Amino acid sequence: MGIIVQKYGGTSVADATRVRNVAERILYTQSKGHQMVVVVSAPAGKTDELLALAKGVAKNPTSREVDMLLATGEQISISLLAMAINDLGGKAISLTAAQVGIKTDNIHQRAKIKEVASTRILDELAKDQVVIVAGFQGINSQNDITTLGRGGSDTTAVALAAALNADMCEIFTDVDGVYTADPRLVPNARKLKEISYDEMLEMASLGAKVLHLRSVELGKKYNVPIHVRSSFNENLGTIVRGGSLMEQGKIVVGVAHDTKISKLTISRVEDQPGIAAKIFAKLAEAGVNVDMIVQSASKEGLADISFTVNKEDAILAEEVTTAMMKELNAQKVERDDHKAKVSIVGTGMISNPGVAAKMFNGLAAEKINIEMISTSDISISTVISENDVERAVQTLHDVFNLEQ
Ligand code: ADP
Ligand code: ASP
Ligand code: MG
Repeated sequence: MGIIVQKYGGTSVADATRVRNVAERILYTQSKGHQMVVVVSAPAGKTDELLALAKGVAKNPTSREVDMLLATGEQISISLLAMAINDLGGKAISLTAAQVGIKTDNIHQRAKIKEVASTRILDELAKDQVVIVAGFQGINSQNDITTLGRGGSDTTAVALAAALNADMCEIFTDVDGVYTADPRLVPNARKLKEISYDEMLEMASLGAKVLHLRSVELGKKYNVPIHVRSSFNENLGTIVRGGSLMEQGKIVVGVAHDTKISKLTISRVEDQPGIAAKIFAKLAEAGVNVDMIVQSASKEGLADISFTVNKEDAILAEEVTTAMMKELNAQKVERDDHKAKVSIVGTGMISNPGVAAKMFNGLAAEKINIEMISTSDISISTVISENDVERAVQTLHDVFNLEQ
């Protein structure tokens, strides 16, 4: 039988008992005749702890050194897991990304995997070893350590599955699969048996952190089916894959939310050609990713421009736009960190009119004010107050009958 890639997230390797449980599960799968490649994340909370350490010694630590530090979290898990497997009578070896040869670009803290070498892994598999690989990390062209962005271990797993032509990529996490909404927010959310790459891409990019966005992109590109399931039970989870799906035909498959956004508003700028170009060129130059943009109707030749960014980029975005106020003749720049994005996702939307109206009516009935709207072929997103996010997600889940 072929290779199986399994990935265990932070909660699954949070303490000694859990590491040993994971070790047993791996050996059980291996005993069925599979060659096992296992990716692990840092123990739950470790990456945040390391980031706090960095902040303790420097106001603006360089990304290179942050990556050097963050990559140590995953090294704790791979070595402990290998020890546990060996202790149970199995054979395991742990490898860092540098030892495997996981090559990335040079963008520290959000590097993209460019190439995965398979030789070392295949050599170890040939010796019947369970190969345990550190998630979330890579090396760039200068052999410096990079990391793939928060949640990036999923991407390591899918990239390995693609490079090794694995039979399956299993993502073990702390929920039973991909749900119609975050099960921690919506108690009656329903586990999906399957979801298409495109819908999962949209869910992940709109805030459903159950899978790292880039892992779904790679899954789609290399046609790797991804099985998302719980590390705490044997239940079948959710298969993310291409082709025609049973769930298809549903207009809306899920509700996603994202509280890690900020909204900025530049008030009373001249409503003239070239103004928006100036603002967003400066933001791009500073490396700020802008998401939604809305311009109010022009009054006396002046308009307000609002846009959203990742919370992490909000202060920088505020600095960049404030520095332009004179040039723009703007009245003021305001930053609001208490916003959230709530979105509905489904491929069936393309051919069904009225979905947006149903969404907005649902929110209106709950007296939830919509501040911004954006749409794609298969999603509709709204920006609302952070305080309303739980109610909004639950309401939309009910309005689109996702429990059934
Ligand atoms: P891991 O540490 O295993 O990578 P994550 O915390 O990154 O786990 O992802 C799992 C979490 O994703 C769940 O605990 C859940 O709260 C959250 N989540 C958000 N949206 C969804 C969804 N639609 N389905 C399942 N989980 C979701
Ligand atoms: N440990 C990293 C993080 O906390 C990567 C991961 O868990 O996937 O973001
Ligand atoms: Mg994760």
